[in-house]
Amino acid sequence: MSAVRVGVLALQGDVREHVRMLAECGAEPTTVRRPRELDAVDALVVPGGESSTIDKLSRAFDLRDPIRARIADGMPVLGTCAGMIMLADRIEGGIEGQETFGGIAMTVRRNAFGRQVDSFETDLSVKGLDGPLHAVFIRGPWVERCEPQVEVLATVDRGAAGVHPVVVRQGPLIAASFHPELGKDHRLHRMLVQSVRSGA
Ligand code: GLN
Repeated sequence: MSAVRVGVLALQGDVREHVRMLAECGAEPTTVRRPRELDAVDALVVPGGESSTIDKLSRAFDLRDPIRARIADGMPVLGTCAGMIMLADRIEGGIEGQETFGGIAMTVRRNAFGRQVDSFETDLSVKGLDGPLHAVFIRGPWVERCEPQVEVLATVDRGAAGVHPVVVRQGPLIAASFHPELGKDHRLHRMLVQSVRSGA
């Protein structure tokens, strides 16, 4: 089986951790800062960081439209935290003029967990994974609304604030509100690599 080449969008955010995770799960990771680097990958990770900065830099580096085109063409993408925001068709709480790559038919709320608990850790039960996934949330978004084509893989119950999806999938696009790259659990990265292998 030939190696799956997975790019990590390296404009801003926690790039190195994703590169390490991808290497550990047998993929061939590479950083993506230029359109020709994007052309060379089978799949992409959009890391956590600051979504408004990733948005601005993706335009400045002439990557936004090529990424949108690859998404439209079916490239598998894993977006984590700010990366989840970048994969959402719509955002609430974005800064003036903030845009996304889009692809997942959902509205996400930036910094949704609020000040008191904007960072926390929990064990999540994720559909399709055996056993809980330890999730580190750092000023993450949640999914406010999604359309029926979006599969909800995990939710978090915020009591009076409601139950919100935090891992979703639409075909080859996977998004998580937290930082799977900060732990030792590779299962979401494997799901991405598997998506390339199965052509899903
Ligand atoms: N709050 C950040 C944003 O809006 C996301 C935080 C993160 O990726 N850890 O982009």
